[in-house]
Amino acid sequence: MSASVISGKAIAAARRATLALRVTELKTSGVNPGLAVVIVGEDPASEVYVRNKEKACVETGIYSEKIEMPTTTKQEELLAVVQELNGRDEIDGILVQFPLPDHLDEDAVIEAIRVDKDVDGFHPESIGRLVVGKETFVSCTPAGVMVLLEESGMSLEGKHVVVVGRSNNVGKPAALLCLEQHATVTICHSRTQDLGAQVASADVVIVAVGRPEMVKGDWIKNGAVVIDVGINRLPDGRLVGDVEYEVAKERAAAITPVPGGVGPMTVAMLMENTVKAAVRHAGIE
Ligand code: NDP
Repeated sequence: MSASVISGKAIAAARRATLALRVTELKTSGVNPGLAVVIVGEDPASEVYVRNKEKACVETGIYSEKIEMPTTTKQEELLAVVQELNGRDEIDGILVQFPLPDHLDEDAVIEAIRVDKDVDGFHPESIGRLVVGKETFVSCTPAGVMVLLEESGMSLEGKHVVVVGRSNNVGKPAALLCLEQHATVTICHSRTQDLGAQVASADVVIVAVGRPEMVKGDWIKNGAVVIDVGINRLPDGRLVGDVEYEVAKERAAAITPVPGGVGPMTVAMLMENTVKAAVRHAGIE
């Protein structure tokens, strides 16, 4: 069996198009969604991510502002910028691009962002609300993963989901969201014993590790759905995921490619969260 390929690229484009119509409609009632993206230093990968976010803002009609700060930025200078953005009415969402230079405290920056502008969903209060199943900004990558799972057509109820990776931004929220949909969830990490056996028992595998093709294709159960969050650049320049795609796709029912899978969804979900914030700020939800 060869898997159907879940094209995050196509699904994200369709969602951006729908969102653009919604933004046009909102603008006629005086609501102009706005996103501020803060980037500190010159990390090349971060610059690409920020450019993609700006492009998506243009495409969807969202006002965007990029604040570029030098690598030498002090913690209090960055916090002052966040505070200023917190107070501005035309900014509905604030995103500080990570990683920050080593001397800056990412947790303190996340906590400084007003929760109602936390479109990245990283604030402890946003995550806490997710834990107790309350409405919140869900961080963009796991939110995108859930859309892709929905598109795969598999209902998660009663299914065994194995999440490989337990980061706060991907693995843990993805696991919680699957639990919310009544899956039985196993979270694996670097100390998990016999990862292959865990993966082999999964109806759905979500991998967010950051190691090229570390999940072997022959671990995948026949008919499973595979969502590969990893993005790894090989020495020859190729981009690959965390799953051995060519082998896994012969066993899976559905699988996401890298690139063109989870990556574009992350940006689309950021746009959706920004519009959600704007609607809430306008009090029309
Ligand atoms: P982190 O480095 O924060 O987390 C990696 C996780 O993988 C950790 O929980 C770690 O376990 C686990 N891990 C490491 N080695 C192993 C192993 N041998 N076996 C099992 N688990 C292991 O990464 P992120 O979650 O932030 O990102 C993961 C990947 O996803 C990266 O490639 C990143 O580039 C990509 N990514 C893609 C996005 C997109 O938009 N497509 C967005 C965000 C990330 P432990 O906790 O024990 O250390």
